[in-house]
Amino acid sequence: MRSFERASLQPVKGYVPGEQPQNQALVKLNTNENPYPPAPEVLAALSEIPAEALRRYPNPTAEAFRRRAANLHGLTPDQLIATNGGDELLRLIFHTFAERGEQVLTTEPSYSLYEVLAAVHGITLNAVPLDAAFAVPEDFETTLAESKARIAFVVNPHAPSGKLFTRDEVRRWLEVFQGVLVIDEAYVDFVSPARKHELVSLIETHPNLLLLRTLSKGYGLAGLRFGYGLGQAALLAPMRHKTQDSYSTDAVAQQLAERALEAQDYAATTWERVRDSRAALQQGLRALGLSCFQSETNFVLTRVPGGAAEARRLCDCARDAGILLRYFDTPRLRDCIRISVGTEAQQASLLAAWQAALA
Ligand SMILES: *Cc1c(COP(=O)(O)O)cnc(C)c1O
Repeated sequence: MRSFERASLQPVKGYVPGEQPQNQALVKLNTNENPYPPAPEVLAALSEIPAEALRRYPNPTAEAFRRRAANLHGLTPDQLIATNGGDELLRLIFHTFAERGEQVLTTEPSYSLYEVLAAVHGITLNAVPLDAAFAVPEDFETTLAESKARIAFVVNPHAPSGKLFTRDEVRRWLEVFQGVLVIDEAYVDFVSPARKHELVSLIETHPNLLLLRTLSKGYGLAGLRFGYGLGQAALLAPMRHKTQDSYSTDAVAQQLAERALEAQDYAATTWERVRDSRAALQQGLRALGLSCFQSETNFVLTRVPGGAAEARRLCDCARDAGILLRYFDTPRLRDCIRISVGTEAQQASLLAAWQAALA
């Protein structure tokens, strides 16, 4: 068949999202959604959206949301860009900071969307392999210092391992890297408070730091499509004024996102419950003889001692029990399974199914 696709796009493999099944009875521990619903205030606001809010165009830059979020983070509204999910921010970052033929850098493994966006934009992706414990290699700072990459992407806490890179590490990377350092904080809400982890204050001193946030995970709003970026005003301005669509976040999403941020206590309660369940899940997996990496996120990566075939068998067995998990068929992750933290009951049925399968 004749293709109308741009020639450079033809070899590109698109992003493969985790399965979103029609069957509502399936337990989804495959895409890191929050197991808890959004705050009651969000649902109340949804039921009260006036027709007028739909008839009119929304505020082009989600001003009210940005004011609320800036307040939460101790920043000014111009240090914040609201986007249609964190994924829109990632696309804008490519559009704004790198030209066709230039380079960007990330780690391997990492969020696979970076690779897709690089390919779509004709940009070379240099993926630096993490070590067996998912730490950066010893010469990572040198690599960054010598890199010609326009952008470097680090997921932190890391996906799919769950590992947290420290503020000191990030600060050293910022100091040597000449391009924009994007710290993808999609999972930062789930970090244990005991870690006292915080990167927002680095924005003031580092013009090349861009933090990504999303309401998809921490606020139970993956369906809403709302995320935001944090950075110095001058860094964000070209995205807000040039590369972003005029009305990329809609009127309903803007209002609900604002309500969600206001309900901090509710959100924090869900994060606490997720952390408790995460500990229970890790304990349960270890009791079955499966090793798991330390996680500061709402998922756990487990390594199956029996290897890739056994990992696939365990995924199939979970599926037979009505539970979806995420399996990555890549050299580094073939013997691993990523399990989103669920409710204690969901996790108990997974562990029971595996106990039977491993007996
Ligand atoms: C979920 C996620 C995002 C953004 O997701 P959105 O739903 O588009 O906000 C970005 N990076 C990583 C690593 C993620 O897991």
